[in-house]
Amino acid sequence: MKRKLIFLITFLLLSINLFGFSPQDTLEKNINTQLITKQIIEEVEKNNYTKAMELIEQLDTVNNFLLNNFKNNLLITYKKQAIENINKYIENSQFESAKKVITILKKYYINDYQINKIQESLYNKIMQLNLQEYSGPIEHLFTHCLLADPSVALNKNNNMYSSYDTDCITKNEFKKILQKLYENNYILIDINSIFTDIDGIITKNKLYLPQGKKPLIFSFDDVNYDHKKMHKGMIDKLILDNDGNIATYTSKASDNKKISYDNEFIVILENFISLHPDFSFMGARGTICLTGYDGILGYRTQKGNINRQKEIEKVKPIIQKLKDLGWTFASHSYGHYHMKKISDEKFEEELQKWQDEVASLVGETSIYVYPYGEWVVNEDNNLSQKHQLLQKYGFKLFCGVGINQYYSYLPNTKNVLFMDRTPIDGYTLRNRKEQLSRLFNTEEVFDYKYRQ
Ligand SMILES: [Zn+2]
Repeated sequence: MKRKLIFLITFLLLSINLFGFSPQDTLEKNINTQLITKQIIEEVEKNNYTKAMELIEQLDTVNNFLLNNFKNNLLITYKKQAIENINKYIENSQFESAKKVITILKKYYINDYQINKIQESLYNKIMQLNLQEYSGPIEHLFTHCLLADPSVALNKNNNMYSSYDTDCITKNEFKKILQKLYENNYILIDINSIFTDIDGIITKNKLYLPQGKKPLIFSFDDVNYDHKKMHKGMIDKLILDNDGNIATYTSKASDNKKISYDNEFIVILENFISLHPDFSFMGARGTICLTGYDGILGYRTQKGNINRQKEIEKVKPIIQKLKDLGWTFASHSYGHYHMKKISDEKFEEELQKWQDEVASLVGETSIYVYPYGEWVVNEDNNLSQKHQLLQKYGFKLFCGVGINQYYSYLPNTKNVLFMDRTPIDGYTLRNRKEQLSRLFNTEEVFDYKYRQ
């Protein structure tokens, strides 16, 4: 279909070159038509049919048989693709995204049976689920891997003690936090459901949620269980048990229980949702933010490791299981460098490495989570080279760190959708009681047994 379109429009361009757009047109008008036609080819090549449609509106199609023919073919291709997208959105409960695409389609198809049917099925689904439009703030919380064995992790002789104590929470703190959030009417939503990308224009979505519920995104950083943290109170890795369920594995577990279902955020959240299915909206789970320099999920999948291929084979079914459960993935950069301190060239290398070594395993993602919450977006009032690279690599939602909610385009930018994440860690539990009180009372979740 696309090939046919490109053929048609290239032929059209050629004919304009030879004969002019139409005999009575001025040279100036013909040059303008050529320019627009070239832009249309570019957009079609990128599958941006909405943009191609907008461009074609600028041309006088009535008097040109070739152009008219092309426009009709473009519409057919566009409609086919749009309907595929709408169905995908409805399936993933991204109702607002589906609505947005239907609105655009209706500009071109005023009374089309197929489109009316699909719109009806969207509204029926929203009605059936008894959903309400939600336009309040969205909470996005994040933490790191949990302190699975706090007696080891928070022992002062542990050389990781101080960073664990500041940056992490214990498994019991996490369980209590989930309970409090649930009691406070939060419901987990999928991070990909909060925005829509239509031909590169990223817009925020309104949400449709069960009545009285407040949306919650929970993300988890640095889920690689890197070497320097091994045997210091965190798990070694995620595994699949004999029944194909996710479990954790800790080779030197202090209680000798190497396999557990109760000491890391993934298994704990799965248990919690089994007990309280209404804590998850349409099967949403959390977002796992991955670097790549020391592999992922406890497997050394990075280039240079001699066992790389074996590790890749081991981690693949785990990734599949996580995806089946509803977990999503975000990029947290490859090497966890300070964005401000590395060159643009190095930054691009890093993006490519993440693409090659991590996206190749977990799939593409639109979510970028800045290491240390440090970001470089504008340089001299223009989009920075680094940010342009991030967009080139397909990232659409950019996540920083901030104790308060922020979800909007960044000031002085177009199209840079940014979201702050509230850190939930030892530091904020101790020092940000007031700000966190909108979520839970920190004193009720603080692990007094292990923390000093
Ligand atoms: Zn990090």
